[in-house]
Amino acid sequence: MKKLVILGGGTAGTMMANKLWKALSNKEWKITIIDKETTHYYQPGFLFIPFGIYQKEDVIKPKKKFYPQDIDVLFIDIDKIEPDQNRVLLSDKQIIEYDYLIVATGSEIRPDEVEGMTGKLWRKSIFDFYTLEGSLALADFLEGWEGGRLVVNIAEMPIKCPVAPMEFAFLADAYFKRRGMRDKVDITFVTPLPGAFTKPVCSEVLAGTLEKRKIKVESEFAIGKIDNQKKKIISWDDREILFDLLVAVPTNMGSRAIQRSGMGDELNYIPTDRNTLQSKVWKNIFVIGDATDLPTSKAGAVAHFEGDVLFQNMIDVISGRTPSASFDGHSNCFIESGNGKAMLIDFNYNTEPLPGKFPLSVIGPFSLLEETAINHWGKMMFKWIYWNAIIKGRELPINSHMSMAGKKVPKTIKTAPA
Ligand SMILES: Cc1cc2nc3c(=O)[nH]c(=O)nc-3n(C[C@H](O)[C@H](O)[C@H](O)COP(=O)(O)OP(=O)(O)OC[C@H]3O[C@@H](n4cnc5c(N)ncnc54)[C@H](O)[C@@H]3O)c2cc1C
Repeated sequence: MKKLVILGGGTAGTMMANKLWKALSNKEWKITIIDKETTHYYQPGFLFIPFGIYQKEDVIKPKKKFYPQDIDVLFIDIDKIEPDQNRVLLSDKQIIEYDYLIVATGSEIRPDEVEGMTGKLWRKSIFDFYTLEGSLALADFLEGWEGGRLVVNIAEMPIKCPVAPMEFAFLADAYFKRRGMRDKVDITFVTPLPGAFTKPVCSEVLAGTLEKRKIKVESEFAIGKIDNQKKKIISWDDREILFDLLVAVPTNMGSRAIQRSGMGDELNYIPTDRNTLQSKVWKNIFVIGDATDLPTSKAGAVAHFEGDVLFQNMIDVISGRTPSASFDGHSNCFIESGNGKAMLIDFNYNTEPLPGKFPLSVIGPFSLLEETAINHWGKMMFKWIYWNAIIKGRELPINSHMSMAGKKVPKTIKTAPA
């Protein structure tokens, strides 16, 4: 029997298990998936919990329900990978050997990386919404909050779903308006980026959307520490911003198991071939999802597009061929903007988010970089698609390679589709 081991059974690991189990004969292959947690979280849903739009039950299901019946499932902490010996050590000292390894251990928030973040105000006036516990605690807090200075801060990039903090600010604006207390809340969006977002066209549109909602933007703010006494965040260049409620997006880092294995960069992300999705060092190790160091978004949609490429390349490598599929960095994300509307962005390594229609030219039905109700319904449908198609490894009617169909290229922008 040949051995395929998948580390991490979240979005990408579950999807790959389902795809490969169908393709590989169970007489020749033993597939093992390893994860430390038994619960699967629909992480995009964490955004909606603080505003009472989703409840806990909307975002959790047992992981096992989504794994193929006859693969080996181990719920245990991975200690480390020993890539030169083709084996994985588990926290109970078990040794798991492999012929091929898929690393899908994702990324996690690390509030301990910012001085003062986990001090006495943590989960009292400082909250995250990148974990279920954080978003539930924030929902409780917001229910009784009477207003003041709300600061939404991104500690550093890259983060999972880079537009989620801005979506939080938009939804907060709509939430306080709905409760008739918007005039009592001052919202500031504080980012280490030079503008609202990374790329010029998108950044301009999003900056306008923030301005319309009277959300202030503090850019190029690299947080150094949090003063719990005086309730302020302080940047490395000594800028200070006062808060009554800090919604923090802490540093995101790859799994500690990657650090223990010595396989990652300074943020524990694994150097990955941007096209083949193979480890840059070990050809029998493949990396997918948030665990990679690729210059694209860390998003479930990206993991889905990568999945098509990785599946083909694994079949090639297993069959003794060179990898034939190439990932172009395709990323696609709805941006919830409040009041039943959302925007959509679609981009890849070489083409920044542009205005236009998606997926079909003229017809759409989704609009790129424009707030529409149809986009909002797309965002809300994503939950169903996630539970019923994405993690089950099913095909979706969207090409894993980005298409220029429907996109309008402004005259000032140079764009080269990959
Ligand atoms: C607030 C928020 C909003 C988001 N919104 C969107 C959105 O709108 N659209 C979108 O596409 N994406 C969104 N995302 C991002 C998306 O959820 C992630 O990019 C996606 O889940 C990544 O999949 P993954 O498989 O790489 O990681 P995960 O799904 O996080 O899986 C990693 C798995 O590895 C396991 N693991 C890690 N270390 C170990 C270890 N040492 N031992 C054992 N197991 C381990 C973990 O338990 C976990 O199950 C959002 C995320 C957040 C937090």
